Amino acid sequence: MTTKITGKPKDGVSPPRHTGQTDLCRICRGETFMLLNLRHHPFANALVSSPLEPVKIYPLALLICKQCSAAQLSYCADDKELYSHYNYITPDSQELKVHYGQIAAFLQENGYLSAGANVLEIGSNIGRFLEFIKPRVRSVLGVDPAANIAEMANCNGIPTVNDFFNSASAKKILEQQGKKDLIIARHCFAHNEKPWLMLEGVRTLISPRGVLAIENAYFLDTVTRGEFDQIYHEHMYYYNLRGILAMFNHYDLELVDVFHSPIHGGTMLYAAQLKSEGPTVNARVREYLEKEENMHKKEFYKGFIEQIQKNKHELNQLLEKLTSQGATIHAYGASAKSATLFNYYGINDDVVPYVVDSTVTKQGKYIPLVNIKIITEEEGRQNPPDYYLLTIWNYKDEIIKKVRSWGNTKTKFILPHPEVRIVE
Ligand SMILES: [Zn+2]
Repeated sequence: MTTKITGKPKDGVSPPRHTGQTDLCRICRGETFMLLNLRHHPFANALVSSPLEPVKIYPLALLICKQCSAAQLSYCADDKELYSHYNYITPDSQELKVHYGQIAAFLQENGYLSAGANVLEIGSNIGRFLEFIKPRVRSVLGVDPAANIAEMANCNGIPTVNDFFNSASAKKILEQQGKKDLIIARHCFAHNEKPWLMLEGVRTLISPRGVLAIENAYFLDTVTRGEFDQIYHEHMYYYNLRGILAMFNHYDLELVDVFHSPIHGGTMLYAAQLKSEGPTVNARVREYLEKEENMHKKEFYKGFIEQIQKNKHELNQLLEKLTSQGATIHAYGASAKSATLFNYYGINDDVVPYVVDSTVTKQGKYIPLVNIKIITEEEGRQNPPDYYLLTIWNYKDEIIKKVRSWGNTKTKFILPHPEVRIVE
C-alpha cells in the first residue's frame, strides 16, 4: 500500500508495509541497523507530465548489516512497478569509453579475458559496453529486461536477449550458444531485490575457468565522499567487498580480484571464478578488505551522516543567497540522483526552475514533487543561467567542457559534495 499525494514534499506520511520491507540483511540474514532515513520519496524515474500530477511515494531508508556490512534499502519496491518508468539509456560519453577501455585492460592484463572469449553482459542496456569490447573478443551477447532498450541494442548490431537474467534464461542461452568465458554485470546487482537469482544464472552459464565481473558504485567511496544521492529506490544494494563475499558464499564463487575506478564517484569491479577450480586470489582483495574492517559498525558512518546535514544546510543557504542577489540557477542532469538530492534537500522550482538533460524521453517532463522542468540542451544553450547546480556531478568535467564549447563563459557550476563549492 502506498500513499498518493500532490504538491511539494511533506513530512509525516504513514509508511506503507510491503513484502519488500525488511529489518534483516537480505544477503546473510544478519541483524541490521538503520543508517539513514530519507523519509518518503517518489521513484526517481517516475517523471511527471505536469506539475500537479499526483505521484506515489515510498519509504527510502538505508540499513547496514551488522554481520556482512552490506548496505541495502529497508524497503524494496516491486520490480514491475519500479521499472515501468525505466528510462535510463547509457549516454554516449567519452568518459565512459575511457572507463570501458580501463575495464578491458584490467581484465586482459590479469588474464581474465582473452581474444577467444565468448562474452555475456547482464543488464546490457543499449549495448554500449559490448559494442566497445566486440572487436577484442570472439562473441558478445547482451541480456536486458527492458523491451524497448533491448530492441535498440539489436537494431544497433548488438545481439540482445530481452529477458531477466536468471537460471531459466541462462539455460535457454546455454542450449543455444554454450558456456560463456566472461559474464559481466555492470551496475545491475544493485538494481534487483534478489541479486542471487542472477548468480544462479551465472553458475549455469559460466565456463570452468570463466570469470564473473560485477561492477557497482563502491559504498566505501559513497560514504567517504558524502554521496548520499546515490540512494534511490532503484539502488536496492550498496556494495563493498564484504557484502559481495557474503553473497558469493552459497555459489562456489571466489572473489579473485578487484578493480577500483574513480568514475561516477567511485566504482569497484569484483572479479570472481569458480572456487572448485582453485583460482588464485590477488593481494588487492585483502588490501580492500582491511579498509572495510569497520563498515559493519554504526560509528564508522558518523562523518557521513554529519556531512549530509552540513551540505544540506550549506547548499540551501548558498542557493538562497544567490537567489536573493537576483542570480538565476538551473540544474544540469535530471538523473535519478538529482531526484533524491532535490527531494531530500527540499530544493524546488521556486529556486531551481529548470534542469537540463540530453535524454529525449525525459525532456518536457518534471522531477516529481519538486516540479523542476526538464529542458533540452538547446534550451539551456539559448537561456544560460548564472549558475548550474551540477546534479550529475559524476560527469563534471565533461559537462563543464560541453557548456564552455557552446561559447558560454558566464555560467558557474555548483557542486553539491563532497563539499558544497562553486567551480568556474
Ligand atoms: Zn548481511
